[in-house]
Amino acid sequence: MKQDKDSFYRHIAQTSDEPMGLEVDRASGCYLFTTDGKKYVDLISGIAVSSLGHRHPNVIRAIKEQLDQHLHVMVYGEYIQKPQSRFADLLTRQLPDSLDRVYFVNSGTESVEGALKLAKKYTGRTKLVAFENSYHGDTHGSLSVTGRNVYRDPYEPLLPDVHFAAFNSKESLSIIDDSTAAVILEPIQGEGGVIPSQKAWLKEVRKRCDEHGALLIFDEIQTGFFRTGTLFAFEYYDVVPDILCLAKAMGGGMPLGAFVSSSEIFEVFKKDPPLNHVTTFGGHPVCCAAAHANLETLLSGDFSSKAYSIAEMACHMLWGDGIVEVRGRGAMLGLQLRDAVLTQKVVEECFKNGLILGWTLHSDSLIRIAPPLIIEPDLLEEAFDIILSAVRKFV
Ligand code: PMP
Repeated sequence: MKQDKDSFYRHIAQTSDEPMGLEVDRASGCYLFTTDGKKYVDLISGIAVSSLGHRHPNVIRAIKEQLDQHLHVMVYGEYIQKPQSRFADLLTRQLPDSLDRVYFVNSGTESVEGALKLAKKYTGRTKLVAFENSYHGDTHGSLSVTGRNVYRDPYEPLLPDVHFAAFNSKESLSIIDDSTAAVILEPIQGEGGVIPSQKAWLKEVRKRCDEHGALLIFDEIQTGFFRTGTLFAFEYYDVVPDILCLAKAMGGGMPLGAFVSSSEIFEVFKKDPPLNHVTTFGGHPVCCAAAHANLETLLSGDFSSKAYSIAEMACHMLWGDGIVEVRGRGAMLGLQLRDAVLTQKVVEECFKNGLILGWTLHSDSLIRIAPPLIIEPDLLEEAFDIILSAVRKFV
């Protein structure tokens, strides 16, 4: 409707001068339908959120059932709410024994904020080590550990005692010492341009943290919930973090974040003073009900193979002039093109042809490919054909 469009541009705070501006009517599975009657294939899952596709029936059913029970009833941590308890139980059953306690929040950045505070309080230290090119969110704490000056500079001074090291560099790990509270990293950097960490390097990070009593925080906000082929990326790397940050795909399309750690570490949130980390809406019952149905559904299907076959098809199909490489793991992929101009043209051309792609925040010559894991091979092939035709048109 014209009225909605006008209001969007007049009254909704804009994040850039060029929003995609798609006027959404409804969404289902891999598709978005717009008010002008067009249909789009969502090849980025609303940025790694809708892993089961949009509006998965199991998720919708769970939401409807919870709507009839209760919405918000109390701030986090006071009342026993079935959807929270049930989801925490299901989630921790998938995790190693040392990740047995969940703190629910509303978003990815809040989970990083909580993780940083938890690490500082547990260790009694202030130094944080993060990595160049990382992205951890846009609130002050998360921004402080985000490794890109262009986003941090306008907001300095940010958190003190944050030190950046080079990703995948063994030498750079000497920065981790006895004053380090935590090391935070994405096992596969997402916004940095889909850059996987090296297995041996990640093991070295773990070792260095252990030697110096620093906590290791994995930001799996983007990599979680089978996006990279295993339920969590840390399983592939065989490195268990002390704190695990989750959000995005966890809520099945509803806003939910969490940071997960051990009961021992979480003790420090209970005292000195009590209630030193609270949230009003964290772990909203409707979101937790959705997350439970989402995870149950993910666990009952073969989403691991589905994610790997998405990568296989991408590597098999996406090559030729103008294409440098496909990288990533599972269904968290980046298509590196020759340059930013070509990338812009390809994304726009695909959009005209009903395919939604995107950039990553720190890279303008990489196309993000992160389809819903439910995507059928035929549709994926069609989508890749659209990308290939667009690349060929402009090379
Ligand atoms: N960490 C990572 C790795 C992310 O990809 C994102 C979102 N792109 C965030 C943190 C922040 O999550 P949110 O937008 O939910 O605050």
